[in-house]
Amino acid sequence: MTEITRDMVLGALKAITDPMTGQPLAQSKTIQGLIVKGPHIGFTLEIDPAQAAQMEPVRKAAEDAVKAIPGVLTVTAVMTAHNEAPAGAPRPEVKAGTAALKGKQSQGTDKAAGGKSGPQAIPGVGAIIAVASGKGGVGKSTTAVNLALALHAQGKSVGILDADIYGPSIPRLLKLSGKPTSADGHTISPMEAYGIKAMSIGLMVSEDQPMIWRGPMVMSALTQLLTDVAWAPIDILVVDMPPGTGDAQLTMAQRVPLAGAVIVSTPQDIALIDARKGLAMFRQTDVPVLGIIENMSSFICPDCGGTHHIFGHGGARETADELGMDFLGEIPLHMDIRTTSDAGTPIVASAPDGPHAQAYQAIAAQVIAKLDAAADAPAGPTISMG
Ligand code: ADP
Repeated sequence: MTEITRDMVLGALKAITDPMTGQPLAQSKTIQGLIVKGPHIGFTLEIDPAQAAQMEPVRKAAEDAVKAIPGVLTVTAVMTAHNEAPAGAPRPEVKAGTAALKGKQSQGTDKAAGGKSGPQAIPGVGAIIAVASGKGGVGKSTTAVNLALALHAQGKSVGILDADIYGPSIPRLLKLSGKPTSADGHTISPMEAYGIKAMSIGLMVSEDQPMIWRGPMVMSALTQLLTDVAWAPIDILVVDMPPGTGDAQLTMAQRVPLAGAVIVSTPQDIALIDARKGLAMFRQTDVPVLGIIENMSSFICPDCGGTHHIFGHGGARETADELGMDFLGEIPLHMDIRTTSDAGTPIVASAPDGPHAQAYQAIAAQVIAKLDAAADAPAGPTISMG
């Protein structure tokens, strides 16, 4: 297949006129940050925020023109505002595709489709749940994978989307390799592992490539992983969110039509109140928090058989109570969880009848019950923040 070059992309953009300057888009300063990574193309349109509505059709036309180049697999064109908002004012919005900021999620229905105020539901994808943490290293990805497999074991068709742009670990946890493929040249086929569909931002770039993404690129890459991957039909899409509560995470929480979020925390993480920040983040974005999971909760000593609370114990349950949140359960700190994770044979799949798998199963059952309850509710989430 012929290699896609910058010139080919710019050539395609010549056909589109920039209404602001009257020049072909390729020659105007509007196009910035062109990235060509094999068949994956990304660029931004730097615009005056006041012109956002006018420029949206231009962005779409630019995306379509580049998509029409033979061999191009994905195109990400996002608008960014080129002037900074004054201090204290809301940041200028970055528009990626049809996603827009702020708004209640649509519980898997098409309620938000066509509306300007919320992220759009993905046809054929039921509930999207985020697995989040206040910081890295608490076992968020391990929990996300095992939760996804437990949901699958309970009869759900499940996908897992690794949105952890800083350290995508789903390929390792599920032993995925190779590049995603596309049958029709436009829609990316998800990978499959242990009966669930999987896609990771880590599969889109090579491992030795530094993960340098401009903010808007991150958002648009996520939008693509949601909308250009053939997830459907699935009941539940588990999104392994990037750790932390910064702007990137907040924007993601706002853009993805989430049915709910699960917060993973270690006992000491709760002490540092990182997880509370996570809760606040979802509150800001109107995403119902399904509950907190305490990971690395206790250590059962293989030699003496005793239970040790290395990082303290019960902090997550207490914090959950304090904040009026549900506590979904605890997962012990155990060597088998780590070794199976690192070997790409997650414990729920490799030892489904063991006590650790059962701990994940119990949490998955609660998640399903909550999603069902929310779907049955007449309006809005049934779980509210304290
Ligand atoms: P995060 O996604 O929060 O950065 P990971 O899921 O990558 O965290 O986990 C970090 C490390 O901790 C990994 O080596 C993983 O195998 C290990 N780990 C996660 N949860 C547990 C657990 N309950 N018991 C033992 N090791 C765990």
